[in-house]
Amino acid sequence: MAAPLRSIGRLLCRTNILYQSLREVRGGHVSLPVVRCHRVGSPCVQVYRSFCTPASSDEDVAATLALSRYKDRPWDYLESEEYIDRYGSKPVWLDYRRNHKGGIPPQKTRKTCIRGDKTCGNPCPICRDPNVIIHYQNVKLLQQFVSPYTGLVLDSTRTGVCMKQQKQLNTAIETARDHGLIPVQVPHVDFSGEDYSNSHAAVGKTPPPTVVKAGEPWYQWYGSMVPDERELARVKKIYKSYLKQ
Ligand SMILES: [Zn+2]
Repeated sequence: MAAPLRSIGRLLCRTNILYQSLREVRGGHVSLPVVRCHRVGSPCVQVYRSFCTPASSDEDVAATLALSRYKDRPWDYLESEEYIDRYGSKPVWLDYRRNHKGGIPPQKTRKTCIRGDKTCGNPCPICRDPNVIIHYQNVKLLQQFVSPYTGLVLDSTRTGVCMKQQKQLNTAIETARDHGLIPVQVPHVDFSGEDYSNSHAAVGKTPPPTVVKAGEPWYQWYGSMVPDERELARVKKIYKSYLKQ
């Protein structure tokens, strides 16, 4: 009984926050029309600056709204119209191309796209869209980074994902496999020709150890070895002067 009440309360709180922020956004548009800051050098700098700041904050509010919308359930974004408009049925990384100097692309993707509050010019497919959130339950997103033929995670040089996100991606895919959300490809082994009986010599009863009598060599073949007569005669002839007998 307590759990449903709590969830209803949480839902009401969330809708209230959403409504308030929407009202702020709308209020900002009505009272403060968005003016471009192209007249910075003009005498009325102060006025224009005051008009310009709310415009950027509106974007921030919109960004935080978008973040909060899919933060709890990131897999809902992949079903949304917003996602279908942007990507269609293609994977998120398909249309991404990294900018680089010269004709040879870099051997590795960049370490990270976002350092502090600075984002690089051409962020990777995961960093460029704040709604694409890596989570082990976000199965549809993770499947875009797993090869359907081999079951292996696609290399970051192919998808263009930065190394920081690739690390998180690998961890999420491993966790999803542990939870049984993504299939694991096991190599096929044919057991038909195997012998599982324990009656053959390899697993049979251990034979008793050989007893060594006094005067006998340890290896049976050691005493019975007969050197080649011709070879012996040749060696004896060479070392004739050194031999005692
Ligand atoms: Zn990135």
